[in-house]
Amino acid sequence: MADSAPAAAADDDPVAPAIELSAAAFDALLAAAESLGPDERLRLEGVTVGLDAAGTDDAENADSANAGTANTADTANTADTANTANTADADGRFMVEIGDERRTGLDDRDLHEVAADHAAAVTDWYVFEHVVGEFGPRRAFLRWLEDADGETVARRYAALADGVAREWGQLRVTVRLTDRGERRYEVRHVDDADVPRTDLTAYDDPLDAREIVRSDERGRYRPLKTAPTLRRGWVFADLGPTDAYETVETVYPATVANWYREREGDLDVNHWRETMERQSGIYGVVKTWDRGESYHHVNWVAEACCDDSQCLKRREWEYDDETDLDVDGGDGAFPCREPCSLVVSAARKWTRLESEQSRTYEFELTPSEKAQVEAVIDAVADGRTDEIREADTKDDANRYRTRFLRAKRFDDDGTLGGVPTDPDGGE
Ligand code: SF4
Repeated sequence: MADSAPAAAADDDPVAPAIELSAAAFDALLAAAESLGPDERLRLEGVTVGLDAAGTDDAENADSANAGTANTADTANTADTANTANTADADGRFMVEIGDERRTGLDDRDLHEVAADHAAAVTDWYVFEHVVGEFGPRRAFLRWLEDADGETVARRYAALADGVAREWGQLRVTVRLTDRGERRYEVRHVDDADVPRTDLTAYDDPLDAREIVRSDERGRYRPLKTAPTLRRGWVFADLGPTDAYETVETVYPATVANWYREREGDLDVNHWRETMERQSGIYGVVKTWDRGESYHHVNWVAEACCDDSQCLKRREWEYDDETDLDVDGGDGAFPCREPCSLVVSAARKWTRLESEQSRTYEFELTPSEKAQVEAVIDAVADGRTDEIREADTKDDANRYRTRFLRAKRFDDDGTLGGVPTDPDGGE
């Protein structure tokens, strides 16, 4: 998707901070202006640049004259001739429009003066056109970070001077402006928003993020990179645009690419049934779970694995093209386009477990004990067991309460109520 046309500056726009026009930004502007066709315009916020037809004609005439001189005067100094041609070339060949005012016959110096007066617009164009470069996910993401397609340059620059922060999963990405209109980025855990930088471990290589995402706060391996278990305590403090993008992509692989595809209307969603039908080898068994009878089992899978409390992606896949699941897909910033390998692997296990038939067991439990069993299941499912204090015996899932229940209701073989799990002796 092309960037949006520059938003028109409004009267109530805050004043952008003073920006120094860099030589690189002006050289890029000059080159872009020189390469315009006669009817083409380079539109920046508040100023439009084009070639001045009259000036260009003059320059072309001067070119011809100089070419003739060079051809006929064998003794002429070639360098001098070239300089003369350049001077003629540069004379009055640009035009600019600023609001209702149209100025023609501008040479390079005049153009530089205009560019310096509109340094915010020029540097903004330069950053995305030349520093960030090609259209695609990276450029769209970096523009989204600072709302470049929604806000005027003046408003953005005023905000960027203080830093503009956006959240991406559990990342907080902050963009700041330098006095030359460049962007610097900081990436840290969203829960570390208020932690002084000096209290965080600093990194500058995006690949260092691979180590950060490997394990959670307690050192446990994170099989799902979009699980909300990213550990805290680190910062990528001063990145350029490419490294900022690479850091985000290392923490949450392919999330920007899929977000971009979705924005472009190109997200290729593979629903549950088609994904399961593709499984082969040891995963082929999951096909047998789909017998076309219902999709409730997939509701349970999605509720178990894809809920926002378990995964930060927004689930866009459904049961099939025609059948939506009953559980909500979540609010994540980036979409999930098909059941992931963790879900497929879990589904394989459930396929086997769900092939069993229900049985009726008879246990004796007090009402409080039944409520306690339910609370223990809830606490484990919500990953809350670590939060339950040992002294808090009011909590049904308290460890001592649970140990008491086990001591009272399990027999020596660890069987609830002494009721055999499989009285027929099967597995
Ligand atoms: S399938 Fe579910 S758990 Fe896996 S990435 Fe997608 S939303 Fe997350």
